[in-house]
Amino acid sequence: MENAAVVLVLLLIFATIRFILGIVKGNIKFLGIDGRKSSLYLLITCFVVFFISGCGLVVPEDESTVTPHIKEATSESGNLKVHYIDVGQGASQLILTPSGKTMLIDGGNNDDEGRVVNYLKKEGVKKVDVLIGTHPDADHIGGLDAVVDAFDIGYIYMPKVSSNTKTFESLLTSIANKNLKVTTAKAGIDIKLDEQLTVKMLAPVNTYQDKNNMSAVIKLTFGSNSFLFTGDAEAESEQDMVSSGTDLKADVLLVGHHGSNSSTSQSFLNAVNPKYAVIQVGDNNYGHPTDRILKQLADKKIKIYRNDKQGNIIFTSNGEKITQSSKSTTEVETSIKQDDRQNTSVYYKNCTAVREAGKAPLYKGDPGYSTKLDRDGDGIACE
Ligand SMILES: [Zn+2]
Repeated sequence: MENAAVVLVLLLIFATIRFILGIVKGNIKFLGIDGRKSSLYLLITCFVVFFISGCGLVVPEDESTVTPHIKEATSESGNLKVHYIDVGQGASQLILTPSGKTMLIDGGNNDDEGRVVNYLKKEGVKKVDVLIGTHPDADHIGGLDAVVDAFDIGYIYMPKVSSNTKTFESLLTSIANKNLKVTTAKAGIDIKLDEQLTVKMLAPVNTYQDKNNMSAVIKLTFGSNSFLFTGDAEAESEQDMVSSGTDLKADVLLVGHHGSNSSTSQSFLNAVNPKYAVIQVGDNNYGHPTDRILKQLADKKIKIYRNDKQGNIIFTSNGEKITQSSKSTTEVETSIKQDDRQNTSVYYKNCTAVREAGKAPLYKGDPGYSTKLDRDGDGIACE
């Protein structure tokens, strides 16, 4: 059909030239036509015939030949991306700003350092412009020494609280080796990360005995969208933030302390009033997240996202709208149940089991593949 259209167009061009010449000269000898008017009518007839037949020749494009929508940097530049990296029972959030700046809040456990460093590399990070260790617990700062070793680092913020653990010491050693300095994290600090964003530190408001309450809490605003990162801040710190009168309202709340009962007090949750809640949680013996917290979030119709259910969780904001590609947990639970039904014959508890069975890596669709095993969400589990 395409060839027919080409022939038709060529014919039209030839005829147009010939008929225009005919109008100018007053005759079209080879057709035996005499007179300008006759030539003009012939030209018009030719266009009408072409139009009618041409319409019939417009072939709907075969869908398989349509260029796929390219989900590339072009459509994403100018957006804010917030990654809640799946580090199991721990916390790590990577923020990629509209102007290409990078902020990393926490880096998971020591064992996760390779995962975090690779995740950043895969995202094209060369420099971490702002690095925040919310508080010195191993499940937050464990992987940060490797991040400091592997990347250029701009500013580092950590609260004024020390710990005599090896993990904490090794982070301080990495920082000292690069002659970097640490700024004390406390409420009221404005972090200059990207001109299009406001990044404010809302806690710690006071000094606390408890390390969790010393957690740096950060609110990031881009246009009309906002994100609140809470570390392991507990009710006491939350109460001080509420009392300080600071604007806590945020679209996305990182649920404090992995969904422990010690955090997310009702008054704090009411003040934040989020649409989405993210729980950074993995296999644990603490009962995180607790039923009370889950119910409290569900009662307010907040959509819940969890690393133990969805792997890495990524939010994108254009300053007006937030999009999230994974489903919230209730929907995910249903789909996992369906997957299990289809694949009841093959089930792997973890990647060790997959490797022992000699089946690693598992690709999406393989028997036994599950999103739980595919923590980086690239469709390949237990790489
Ligand atoms: Zn923690």
